[in-house]
Order: sequence, then structure tokens, then C-alpha cells
Amino acid sequence: MSSAPPIVRRFVAGTTWQDVMPHCESLAAQGIRTTLNILGEDFRGEQESRAVQREYIELLARMDGSNSYLSIKLTMLGLMHSEELTCELLDGLLQVAATRGVFVRIDMEGSAWTEQTVSIYARMKKKYPALGIVLQAYLKRTRADLERLQAVEARVRLCKGAYKEAADIAWQDMRSIRQNYAELAEILLRNFSDTAFATHDDLLITHVRELAQRQRVSADRYEFQMLYGMRRRTWPRLRADGYNLRVYIPFGKNWLPYFSRRLLERKENFFFLLRNLFKA
Ligand SMILES: Cc1cc2nc3c(=O)[nH]c(=O)nc-3n(C[C@H](O)[C@H](O)[C@H](O)COP(=O)(O)OP(=O)(O)OC[C@H]3O[C@@H](n4cnc5c(N)ncnc54)[C@H](O)[C@@H]3O)c2cc1C
Repeated sequence: MSSAPPIVRRFVAGTTWQDVMPHCESLAAQGIRTTLNILGEDFRGEQESRAVQREYIELLARMDGSNSYLSIKLTMLGLMHSEELTCELLDGLLQVAATRGVFVRIDMEGSAWTEQTVSIYARMKKKYPALGIVLQAYLKRTRADLERLQAVEARVRLCKGAYKEAADIAWQDMRSIRQNYAELAEILLRNFSDTAFATHDDLLITHVRELAQRQRVSADRYEFQMLYGMRRRTWPRLRADGYNLRVYIPFGKNWLPYFSRRLLERKENFFFLLRNLFKA
């Protein structure tokens, strides 16, 4: 990881797939699944989107679908440039993923891309069953998206949402976001299968566990997900309690936007940065 300061390594696992594979192996040995993400977003040029598709395809050649899958962003595959290009690149990537038996999940980005992401997902899911999407609990539209996606048997990762959004479209306070997360979790456990609950929030983790018990959904029918570098001590505890856990492992040289979101969303992360700056 020569191009990134050491502190970035808390949240970003490396710059190449060679950096990342040992992390996947060591987590697999602890019964923890992984999802790999090549960092980058908001690509404006066709060439860089084509290049990242090739990079993902090279990564797929090293994967067998047993413990790891991919998480991708559509603005990296050209969504800012043209939807046609994005669909072409996504389709090519999903064809290879299908031959390798690897599940692919489309991350959700800022609200400017939500509608296109949901509709591209709904189209592609009919052709590629091993395709998932992310929905954000802070967005007021998410319940309607969920209803719409039930028809294609969507495989959903539910998260709070990481982008700055306006108050008319997104809840701003933690209480409302948690409340919506809890309500969406109930719908997901009742009407969807293979849901991923992405959160580091103990209140929500406990709530999902209790909901699942009440609805008699066994722990093998959903999983929790956390980000690389966050709440490491909780990982073995969740596994020991019998829950599936997947860690999202980002890597690559375009780490700045991702790293900034992690710093801004939690004061603990920011203090970690400060402590390490003064240590250096
Ligand atoms: C696997 C994964 C994938 C994601 N994908 C997307 C995506 O596609 N699109 C998107 O917009 N966002 C995504 N996110 C980010 C997500 O939307 C949130 O921004 C992020 O997870 C922070 O919300 P939180 O619920 O984890 O906890 P926060 O809201 O940050 O924290 C709530 C509470 O959790 C506890 N907590 C959290 N972190 C810690 C810690 N390090 N140590 C101790 N306690 C802690 C504390 O009690 C805290 O008060 C993803 C997150 C994960 C985990």
C-alpha cells in the first residue's frame, strides 16, 4: 500500500488483490465471510470504467465463490457517463461472476443515483439471480423501493446510509433512522430471503436478533455485515453466538472518498486519526 498513509490501513486493506487475499484467508479461518470492493466512485471517463471492469474480472479469476463475493459501485462502471455503458460493463462482469459462482452486490451511492441503481438492479436481477443490492434506511423512499423489489426477489443489504442528503428526502436524526431501519428489517425478515444487515450499531444488532427469533427466522437465513477496521472485537463474539458475519474489505488506490466518509461518520474514527497523526 505504498500510495496510502499508514493510518488509512485501518480501514483500507491494501492496493492490490495480492494485499487483500491474506485478510480473506485469515477471516475465513475464523468462519467469517468477506466481500471485496475495489475503491473508486464518480468516474467520469469511459476508459477508467472499462479499466475497472477488467480489474474486477481479474479479481474474479482468483475467486471461487466459497467465502467471498464482490461489492461494486455503479458510478465506477460509468453511471455518470452513460447508463448504457454501465449496463454493458455490469452485464460483462456478471457473466464472468456467474461462471465463477461468485455473488455480486451493487452498493448504494448518493441519492442522485438511487432511482437508476434500483431500476438497473431490477432488470439485471431477472437475468442474474446471484445479484444483490443495498438499500439505505435514512432515505424516505426505501420502503417503496423494497415493495417494488419484492417482485424480483431482491437480495438486500440494509444499511443506514453514508452520504449527506437533504432533509426532504432523508431522515437526519439517529432516532428516526434507527426506527426506519428496524421497520425495514421486519419487512425484510418476513418477506425476503438472504438479507444482510450492515451495521456496527449494537442496538440494531440486538433488535434484528430479537426480531428474527420472534419471526422464527433461523440465523442461517440472514447475516450481519461490518466494515474492515470497525468493531473487530465484536466479530468473534457474533460468530460464537451462532450468527453469520461478513466483513466488507475495500482496497485500491482511490481510497480518499471512502476514507473520508469513515472519518466523518464517527468521532472515534476521527480521534483515531488524530492519535496516530501525533504518534507519527
Ligand atoms: C458492510 C457494510 C456495507 C455498507 N454499504 C453501504 C452502501 O452501499 N451505501 C451506503 O450509503 N452506506 C453503506 N454502508 C455504511 C452505512 O450506511 C453507515 O454509514 C455505517 O455503517 C455507519 O452506521 P452504523 O449503523 O454502522 O453505526 P453508526 O451510526 O456509525 O453508530 C451507531 C452506534 O453503533 C455503535 N458503534 C458504531 N461503530 C462503533 C465502533 N467502532 N466501536 C464501538 N461502537 C460502535 C455505537 O453504539 C454507535 O452509537 C455500509 C456499511 C457496512 C457495515
